[in-house]
Amino acid sequence: MFTDSVGWIVFLLSASAGLALASSFSLINTWSKMAANGEVMSSDEEINESAELEIDTKDDVVTFKSLGVTDVLCQACEGLKWINPTKIQQESLPVALAGKDVIGLAETGSGKTGAFALPILQKLLDNPQRLFALVMTPTRELAFQISEQFEALGSTIGVKCCVIVGGIDMMTQALMLAKKPHIVIATPGRLVDHLENTKGFNLRSLKFLVMDEADRILNMDFEQEVDKILKVSCQMSDKLYHLQGQNVPCIKEKVIKCG
Ligand code: AMP
Repeated sequence: MFTDSVGWIVFLLSASAGLALASSFSLINTWSKMAANGEVMSSDEEINESAELEIDTKDDVVTFKSLGVTDVLCQACEGLKWINPTKIQQESLPVALAGKDVIGLAETGSGKTGAFALPILQKLLDNPQRLFALVMTPTRELAFQISEQFEALGSTIGVKCCVIVGGIDMMTQALMLAKKPHIVIATPGRLVDHLENTKGFNLRSLKFLVMDEADRILNMDFEQEVDKILKVSCQMSDKLYHLQGQNVPCIKEKVIKCG
């Protein structure tokens, strides 16, 4: 994943999108499937829609370390009083750390930010590089919350994040982007503004793309913006093409062909 392609982590909120995806997803064998409950979904399973922080401690105790999280990040979790990984973290961390793409169904409140932030930070530690990951999210509020969690988890390793959302001066943001942060957390509209108008800014070096609440992003009026962002990389477009083939209602119309 880290030579010439971009790792994807996609989180969906909507149970129907998740079910459609999970029921046919085995066709893509480089992608993993999971539910917020930590189970592979099938089309007749009930989805628990409540936003609870589910931590399963009944059997053998699962720790961040036992899932493969490196010591410095385990300490960061301890510092945040994250004693055990939540279910979505238990399911997604080993997969993402193994370098596979991840699609998850998880709500705000389930620990999903940690589920994508920890593997990204760990890979960043292995392979330090500016403009390493892009997290796309539908709202400004979510963008700032995600940035806070990246900074809290990454404080001891010097991670630099940059939030790119509307309502803030473009020039200020252009200066932040010029410093080449490790992680960019953005709403699609403002990110496209910068891709089109900020000299020297591009996403060609990206190693991770997260679409947080992807179903919301794609159901809001962000279609053209997402197209433009994904066109920065053939790998991204190819993966979207595969997703389209999986008949996810909110994604199926969005195919971008390379070349
Ligand atoms: P999220 O679903 O990412 O919005 O996270 C919801 C809240 O759960 C945030 O306040 C996190 O700090 C917290 N959280 C995430 N992972 C854990 C964990 N493993 N243990 C305890 N709290 C957590």
